[in-house]
Amino acid sequence: MGDARAVTERHLGLFRNVPAARPGLCRVCHSAPAEPPGRHAPPAGDPGRRAAPSEEPGRHVAPAGARLVLARSRAAREERRVARDEPHGPAHLCAGCLRAAAGLHRHTPHVVPVSLCARTGDDRRLYDLVTRRRTPPGEPSPATLLAATLARFHRAHLRCLTRAAGGPFTLVTTVPGAGADRPVEAFDLLPRVVQWVSALRGRHRPVLMPGGDRAAEAALTRHIPDERAFHVLGRLDGERVLLLDELFVTGARVQSAASALYRAGAEEVVALVVARLADPWADTRLADAWARPYDFGRCCLCDPAARPSPDAGPRAGPG
Ligand SMILES: [Zn+2]
Ligand SMILES: [Zn+2]
Repeated sequence: MGDARAVTERHLGLFRNVPAARPGLCRVCHSAPAEPPGRHAPPAGDPGRRAAPSEEPGRHVAPAGARLVLARSRAAREERRVARDEPHGPAHLCAGCLRAAAGLHRHTPHVVPVSLCARTGDDRRLYDLVTRRRTPPGEPSPATLLAATLARFHRAHLRCLTRAAGGPFTLVTTVPGAGADRPVEAFDLLPRVVQWVSALRGRHRPVLMPGGDRAAEAALTRHIPDERAFHVLGRLDGERVLLLDELFVTGARVQSAASALYRAGAEEVVALVVARLADPWADTRLADAWARPYDFGRCCLCDPAARPSPDAGPRAGPG
């Protein structure tokens, strides 16, 4: 990768700050309001919508009522665990993360978005970029911009990401792309992008494959996490995985991939996603972060008020 700072600096207007982790925001994705205490998301599907049996996660077949009870008790257990782990009082998950926590073998508690994005209005350029809706004239190719973005953010926040993983990453991998909100391409762009980022390519292995289960793929397009959506090539015992994806809508896709990695033996999975689709007006904390000029020196894991920004200052460096 050439000068990641120069490329991203020219297109800083694409990015929107992700608010720092704090009570009231989801403790997994840090970028959506947490559900009010005691309120559990439905086990699958859109909020308030009861899932059809074919959409429900898991392979075992149990009566729909029993599965619903099981999923609710899992959600309640996760909420109790979260409340116990959080020293500053109960912290909660957003609807999407709660659904992933309840519906999968294991979800990653660490999702780090580089930027918020919106699907509508004047602020939709990053969304258009990651979904390849359009590349306006004069803008760099999506691959160039994605590589520069990942290179710069990874360099600035490697310490934050490593701390979340509990140690240095031993594997970098990407979520295979397809389905709704995904670019229709003959090949996945992200694995190619990773090859351009010197800090990532040495540990990159494409271990995640589409699971080939049509019901699971259909579930993901409806933002329902599904254990069968991906499978992993080989064992990953003891690996600390940096999982890359371009877009995080509800987390169904990223978390289904994370669950497959944990099943294959991964010790820890940290998801680094370029764009988190958000409704900035749903919450004042999101709106505040949205309104500030974007700063590559802060991420949702490092509090800029608490320590100097590792990416601060005008010094340019190689990507
Ligand atoms: Zn969340
Ligand atoms: Zn950070």
